[in-house]
Amino acid sequence: MITISETIKRVRPSMTLALNAKAKELNARGEKIISFTVGEPNFNVPAHVEAAAMDAFKKGYTRYTAESGIPELKRAIINRYQSDYQLTFAPEEIIVSCGGKHALYGIMKTLLNPGDEVIIPSPYWLSYPDQVLMNDGVPVFINTTEKNQFKMNALELESKMTAKTKIVILNSPSNPTGEVYADDEVKKIIDVMIMHPDVVLISDEIYDKMVYAGKFKSILQLSDKIRNQTIIVNGVSKSYAMTGLRIGYAIGPKLIISNMSKAQGHATSSPCSISQWAAVAALAGDQSCVETMRIAFKRRRDLMAKLLQSIPKISCRIPDGAFYLFPNVSAYYGKQNIQNSMDMTNYLLDMGKISVVPGKVFGNDDHIRLSYALSDEDIELGIARMKDALVRLVA
Ligand code: PLP
Repeated sequence: MITISETIKRVRPSMTLALNAKAKELNARGEKIISFTVGEPNFNVPAHVEAAAMDAFKKGYTRYTAESGIPELKRAIINRYQSDYQLTFAPEEIIVSCGGKHALYGIMKTLLNPGDEVIIPSPYWLSYPDQVLMNDGVPVFINTTEKNQFKMNALELESKMTAKTKIVILNSPSNPTGEVYADDEVKKIIDVMIMHPDVVLISDEIYDKMVYAGKFKSILQLSDKIRNQTIIVNGVSKSYAMTGLRIGYAIGPKLIISNMSKAQGHATSSPCSISQWAAVAALAGDQSCVETMRIAFKRRRDLMAKLLQSIPKISCRIPDGAFYLFPNVSAYYGKQNIQNSMDMTNYLLDMGKISVVPGKVFGNDDHIRLSYALSDEDIELGIARMKDALVRLVA
């Protein structure tokens, strides 16, 4: 009998992708579901990026590339971090991967030995713990609260550090909560990291361009004392609406990056050549598309938050980043067999014809996640449906 590895058996399927697929299937049957599930901008790829991809085809850039990415893309990444965040990196500190997700996977694969612990503030992006499990590590959660804006603090971090801790993950702006850490909060976390120089900090900055108050600061702007133990993860999926082109990257100490490259060479040879040239155009080209999207997201965040806050018994913070809201719907638990966020998700799909993600998959069962990377019309219609469905519950 063919058996599946114990490692993979422990891994959960990606719920966001599954829910989005379900919404698409219902739509195909004519149900007209509005999907608030998947985290991708509903904008087109910027025209100059599309042109660069076409051009790459015409020029015959269709061969394997260097395993850690083409020099032109590494240069574009270096220049972006230099001009946006005044940070200077060398090409040997950069690896280009097939999406930020793949870069994160490469970090785990490269650093984790069986039993090594990875500290993850909860709620968390759902792939972190599963990537840890896929690499025989142990996820260790720090449960954060709505009252503390879903942020871990330095004391909580210190209390979870053990001799087995290998990695700490910081994701700001956060998926699923949208919260952004303040500089002084990050500085205190950095102080803890300085006390643990053998522990690697992953700063997942994938939503750096979606910040609606103040200016985003990259982790190493706040202190270069942790440079030897920090890996920044970013990519072009969110900032340039290029989710399907699958380009992300990691910036970190040469020793880690060279070993990630070695592993990546055997896993994928290289990221897609055409997509890498598209990413060069995105990162090196005109940045006004990024600002246009940011302004649209800010407007949609405010629209969705206002509409959600008009629904009785829902509490919803207005976070400063990413494109998600994470309302607390637990006041409805106990009504009509709705006991948890999965029941609520199913109820909203059946009765409201909207698709959301249950907070449980992000580690918090009182909430649901809604992406506002949708048109204004869909947001208005979808939240009106949600309101109707919830008001019916208590009527
Ligand atoms: N990190 C976070 C927090 C995310 O939400 C995502 C995507 O949803 C990623 C990383 C990876 O994005 P990609 O693999 O498309 O670059």
